[in-house]
Amino acid sequence: MTKYGCPIREGAARFPNEEALTFAGRSWTYGALDAEVNHWVAALEARGLGAGHRVALLATNHAACVFLFWALGRLGAVLAPLNARLTRAELAPLVEDVSPSLTLALGALRERLPGAEPLETFRSSAPSSTASALDENTARVILLTSGTTGRPKGALLTEGNFRASSRASAANLGAHPAPRWLGTLPLFHVGGLAMLTRTAYEGGCLVLHERFDAESTSRAIDEESVSHASLVATTLERVLDVRAGRRVPETFKLALIGGGPVPVPLLERARAVGLLALQTYGLTEACSQVATERPGDADGRTAGPAVPGTELRIVGGGGEVCGPGEEGDIEVRGPTVMAGYWQRPEATSEALRDGWLRTRDLGVLDSRGRLTVLSRRTDLIVRGGENIYPAEVEAVLANHPSVQESAVVGIRESRWGEVPVAFLALRAGQERPSDEALESWCRQSLAGFKLPTRFFWVDVLPRNAMGKLERTVLRKSAES
Ligand code: AMP
Ligand code: MG
Ligand code: MG
Repeated sequence: MTKYGCPIREGAARFPNEEALTFAGRSWTYGALDAEVNHWVAALEARGLGAGHRVALLATNHAACVFLFWALGRLGAVLAPLNARLTRAELAPLVEDVSPSLTLALGALRERLPGAEPLETFRSSAPSSTASALDENTARVILLTSGTTGRPKGALLTEGNFRASSRASAANLGAHPAPRWLGTLPLFHVGGLAMLTRTAYEGGCLVLHERFDAESTSRAIDEESVSHASLVATTLERVLDVRAGRRVPETFKLALIGGGPVPVPLLERARAVGLLALQTYGLTEACSQVATERPGDADGRTAGPAVPGTELRIVGGGGEVCGPGEEGDIEVRGPTVMAGYWQRPEATSEALRDGWLRTRDLGVLDSRGRLTVLSRRTDLIVRGGENIYPAEVEAVLANHPSVQESAVVGIRESRWGEVPVAFLALRAGQERPSDEALESWCRQSLAGFKLPTRFFWVDVLPRNAMGKLERTVLRKSAES
């Protein structure tokens, strides 16, 4: 089997003076990053870390996370990044599940992880020259999710997954010139890790930010000549708000927008100021992008076709493969699909059948193979047998001039089984419309059965670290 080297080491040999990473006012060329990684490899070796060993990490975005990621790759060891928003009680079962040889945490986060060593000072003063010898199947990352019920599940992503994901992204978006990718997504999420690997495999630069901030993102676009960014709908909206109509410079090529429903008017608003925003659909288990709009053929109405190398199909209730226009479950096959869930053979065989990943998302393909994501299977609202996709109702509500954002969830109800209710956040400076006014607004574009039966006003919608709506929180609050 082909052995893969480290892209940082290769970059240091081929273009040592090209910029590889910037963070908090500092910058590393490929040469400097390679040298830094060597010190981290030595520190890991001093702890006896080697192939297959796992390291748990609790950190917000920091240059040290990047050093650690590449150092672990040199040894064939596995990174298990933990969500920095989780509490001590939530983290404990995750750590137990990965049984790490070493746990590291950044700054005050150490308090939440008993026994963790400080990430900032982990490096060794002497370097190590150990080189990578990875193959396709070498595990690189375990990405843990703590479901609301049951044991944690960790998607096991391999060197082959990350390489294929980077290749597919570059083939779709164009790899030249090498990207300067703005990294505001957390590195404990696949979106963040895919940015990290993608820029390295393409010889580009990761412009890493500690966290998303609308002002800093806008400044990076204007002053740090970033060419690409990955955002979610809400963060794109906040960037557009702070830019207040200011056009983006030519240096900025495009932004990928995904992680949840992407409203078409938002992408149009972005394009109006010269910001090409492409809808993308992806998930952890497929190492980020599955389908992404093509830069030359993008209108934001779909998530585009499958990225090169990935197969996509829609499967109906009886297990039959659907044709264009038929709605069903989205399934994915190809080299970006995870090896399985860490130590969960049953969950793995439920998720992977004949190489096809069952995403548990509902969607439909058009005649040109472009995907529309309708809903997560669990978010689908079934009202007396009629399907309601929350995203469709949310898009109509969010178009109301007084509505900043909205979330529609299903609650149990005795007559219809389930009915939709809406949570709304008021746009600053606007008057709150009456329930009747909202209802007639919805009636203009939606069938009667899709109308929310109640409207709840909130200051902000609950979101997790990735900016994803926490629908269970809303469902519980509506039902209580
Ligand atoms: P994660 O489970 O954190 O890996 O996030 C992946 C999930 O985000 C998918 O399974 C979808 O439910 C959702 N998602 C990602 N992209 C889109 C999109 N373009 N439209 C709607 N939902 C999306
Ligand atoms: Mg998921
Ligand atoms: Mg609005």
